[in-house]
Amino acid sequence: MAEIQIRNVAKKFGSYQALQDIDLTIADQEFMVLLGASGCGKTTLLRIIAGLESATTGEVWIGGRRVDHLAPKDRGIAMVFQNYAVFPHLTVSGNIGFGLRMQKLPKAEITRRVERTAELMHIEKLLKRYSGELSGGQRQRVAVARALAMEPDVILMDEPLSNLDALLRLEMRAELKGVLADSNTTAIYVTHDQVEAMSLADRISVMHGGRIVQAASPIDVYRNPAAEFVAGFIGNPPMNFLEASPAGAGKWRVAGQVLDGPKTGAARLRMAVRPEDLHPAEAGLEAIAKVVEPLGAHLLVTCTVDGAMFRAVLDSDLSLRAGDRLTLAPLSERIRWFDPETTLAIA
Ligand code: ATP
Repeated sequence: MAEIQIRNVAKKFGSYQALQDIDLTIADQEFMVLLGASGCGKTTLLRIIAGLESATTGEVWIGGRRVDHLAPKDRGIAMVFQNYAVFPHLTVSGNIGFGLRMQKLPKAEITRRVERTAELMHIEKLLKRYSGELSGGQRQRVAVARALAMEPDVILMDEPLSNLDALLRLEMRAELKGVLADSNTTAIYVTHDQVEAMSLADRISVMHGGRIVQAASPIDVYRNPAAEFVAGFIGNPPMNFLEASPAGAGKWRVAGQVLDGPKTGAARLRMAVRPEDLHPAEAGLEAIAKVVEPLGAHLLVTCTVDGAMFRAVLDSDLSLRAGDRLTLAPLSERIRWFDPETTLAIA
């Protein structure tokens, strides 16, 4: 059992509040991704869990044991960090087997694990090379293999695929997902790449300004963003927003159209809809196309609706040019509403 609990953690660097109000439980064997823009506090949180940084307040528990006063080596975790410290004086094989030799595992078992993880990371042909003779991407894979070889209860990874080219990154992502799904490991994975987050995670914690804004399954974060920040961050392109004013009970006026919406007494709301949840129709939001980008599978149309920038992902067979007028109907069940005061979603 390696459930991880982060209880009320905050971190200050001098007067700078890097993390606040972090309460998060990661279930045994769960794959949790910390996702957010640069500087939002992902690495700091991971380093606090690892013991490389201490929290200003709060507690960290792993497997029912409070660990925030323990040294990193006593926390039962394996780590892969951005700067992947592989030992230059050891071969790839020596690096991957390093922790296993420290644990005094039998030689045959070490060889088995080194070969297996090297194969998974596609570095089996490099086993005899010194790691000083490797590219950055190869070194990064050695670091991942070394952590996996430990078969740890908990693995912490900070952008472990960042130095790989796009194709290899895609391949490694699938490999990593497969390996961890087959293991009993609880994983926390830091990335600012939302596609990586969506593809790997059981749950994603979306971070912003040192806080966790939403922790939910990838599809939930995508379909039911808890706050405007999440709606505007997740998805490429992200959700469109339009201002809404009341037009009778449960009715809202949006860019001249009346739409069904929440029954609240609010004076204003904000409507959000994903670009792919719009389609050309007889009735709907009046738009003027500004830029039309054929992307093969789809047509990405940047337009204006009621003066606001608005994007639609449409059928690539549609013939459309900049300057054309079009009417876009949102899929009503996919529309989301936010309170502009709190920026939170209306249930
Ligand atoms: P990135 O994706 O760029 O790595 P991140 O979300 O991981 O970003 P952190 O590295 O956790 O962000 O940093 C969070 C904030 O805390 C940043 O504003 C950073 O400048 C600040 N910070 C991090 N470490 C220190 C430090 N040792 N001293 C002072 N400020 C720090």
